[in-house]
Amino acid sequence: MIKYKLKCENLHQFESWFASSEAYEKLNNQQLLTCEICGSKSISKSLMSPRVGTNKKNKIKENLKLDSDKEQNLIKELKKEVEKNCEYVGENFEKEARAIHYGEAPERSIYGKTTLKQAKSLCEDGIPVTTLPWIDRKTN
Ligand SMILES: [Zn+2]
Repeated sequence: MIKYKLKCENLHQFESWFASSEAYEKLNNQQLLTCEICGSKSISKSLMSPRVGTNKKNKIKENLKLDSDKEQNLIKELKKEVEKNCEYVGENFEKEARAIHYGEAPERSIYGKTTLKQAKSLCEDGIPVTTLPWIDRKTN
């Protein structure tokens, strides 16, 4: 349903509900619309409240969504690469990364879970880590 502000040739203004803009056009073309005040059949749509603002807002929102979709795809691609080439060590990431760094474990690429604190501590020890904004599998 759409509410239109209508006005007649005598500039009487009134509001009316229509099923759609097409319904309004149809009724008006068949002169089925009459002014509530003077009964004139010469009715036209009065200016509607401007909708430019909301359209613009929606567009910005769409763009943001596109960007975040793109980003999620990139992360997904990266994740695929990592899963293909690296060994998953789960919660032991910090321990394993250290072991590899100090030659206590065979050198290989690993990935796993780490807290920000652990990652920072690894960095401070000169162990290269890359953090990724991981997407949980179930959200994919
Ligand atoms: Zn009128």
